[in-house]
Amino acid sequence: PVDFSAAEHVEVPAKEGCFDHIFDSDEKSESNLSIIVVGASGDLASTKIFRTLFALFYEDRLPENFTIFGYARTVMTSEELRNLISRTLTCRIGQREKCNDKIERFLGRCFYHSGQYSSEEHFFELDSKLKEKEVGRLSNRLFYLAIPPNVTVDAVRCARRRASSENGWTRVIIEKPFGQDLDSSRELTRDIKQYLSEDQIFRIDHHLNEELVDNLLVLRFSNLVFEPLWSRNYIRNVQFIFSQDSRTDIQGRLVKFDDYGFIRDVMQNHLLQLLALFAMETPVSLDPEDIKNEKVKVLRSMRPVKLEDVVLGQYKGHIDSIAPTFTAATVFVDNSRWDGVPFMLIAGKALQSNRVEIRVQFRHVPGNLYNRKLGTDLDKTTNELVIRVLPDEAMYLKINSKVPGLGLRLDQTDLNLLYKSRCTPRGIPDAYERKLLDAIEGDQRSFIRSDELDAAYEVFTPLLKELERKKVAPELYSCGSTGPVGVHYLAAKHNVHYK
Ligand code: NDP
Repeated sequence: PVDFSAAEHVEVPAKEGCFDHIFDSDEKSESNLSIIVVGASGDLASTKIFRTLFALFYEDRLPENFTIFGYARTVMTSEELRNLISRTLTCRIGQREKCNDKIERFLGRCFYHSGQYSSEEHFFELDSKLKEKEVGRLSNRLFYLAIPPNVTVDAVRCARRRASSENGWTRVIIEKPFGQDLDSSRELTRDIKQYLSEDQIFRIDHHLNEELVDNLLVLRFSNLVFEPLWSRNYIRNVQFIFSQDSRTDIQGRLVKFDDYGFIRDVMQNHLLQLLALFAMETPVSLDPEDIKNEKVKVLRSMRPVKLEDVVLGQYKGHIDSIAPTFTAATVFVDNSRWDGVPFMLIAGKALQSNRVEIRVQFRHVPGNLYNRKLGTDLDKTTNELVIRVLPDEAMYLKINSKVPGLGLRLDQTDLNLLYKSRCTPRGIPDAYERKLLDAIEGDQRSFIRSDELDAAYEVFTPLLKELERKKVAPELYSCGSTGPVGVHYLAAKHNVHYK
């Protein structure tokens, strides 16, 4: 890394810009978009961000006039950055040679500037370089902060003061973690808001924008058949499952988690977000703010998670620590729609399957004629709706039907929508592509607002503090299983079928 410490104190005038300008379509064609990947030398940038930007370019989803700047402390030239990222680029469809031309054109728009994250001087230099590319046009700037959290506020400050757009909008994408608990999260938000307004902040949750998550809203609000069933009257319980198999773990990032990082990362972020979308009331409109208003109401209606409703697990042979690699928690939404319905959040590594799904178990049919006649187990014949986010996006409803032939036998079959069979030859866009496009378009729908973050922390912070205080040891489980035995007891306690 270069040492620019001496340059830290150079005085440069602060910028007075307009930060939230929304363009109409005429302006759009005249505007220039600069995307600045801060932390460009890192893992996330090279494995995800540049690839995604290329995918958007490949699909002609980036504006005509765009420039990409990598920014990090590592000293390298623009050419070296291009070499670095060209190795990661692949075409969405067709042979690689068919898109060499596109790759070249894309790389021609990529540049690099080396600097410290806390140096306003270095961001000012970046600003000059950006201006060279933006000459004569309105400039919009999107900063993607792919850096560790300890330098986030510095980078926000420098970007806002020295490198924000003077005549267009400036937006900043921020990566997890957003603090460690309610207090630190609030402090981080307070610090960032010294420099940015809420609509400039895009807190990213990678799992929130999957195709089926969007489709969840379509399912509920544009089909007459589901919404009337969407309450305690018909739904017995709901499971939100985030399961990674052993393979994932071997390549995995577990070492990055602190003691209870897994709970914060997966349960409190991804799964609570899914839950809020699942359980919210009909929003006033599809406007992102209206949707978030409803999500916040769900989160604020939740009781803080109790230790007795939590199971922690660790797969056998894991590192020598008490860090859970598995967590299950039952939570409740105390409103009239969901009173008493258990929502089970389950997240684990080194499990038997790799899946992210929502499983909705319905109540049994009152006075079911067939159960009476055939003596079938009530629970085995209740309907279940499965919304599979990953892999192979799908939605299926388990229904009972008669086994064809003589005699009367019932069987469960699936009413099935497999997304693969419906999607375009180009496939379903990666979550990151949608995220970046949303941020470019100023669509906050799938990003997390600060009051959502606050409300989510309120649900989990008391539990996290108690776990830390009591140093609760996780229960061991075998790799490739469904988790520790305790999860089955917890499920049984709330009449949930977990498999
Ligand atoms: P890296 O550890 O690769 O860091 C990114 C860059 O930040 C590095 O290349 C380095 O650049 C700089 N950096 C690293 N450590 C420090 C430090 N202590 N102080 C100042 N700068 C530092 O992180 P990732 O790219 O994996 O992730 C970036 C952010 O995104 C993190 O906050 C992470 O939590 C989050 N994230 C990452 C995911 C992933 O899949 N990788 C998934 C979800 C979130 P240089 O030395 O050149 O300045």
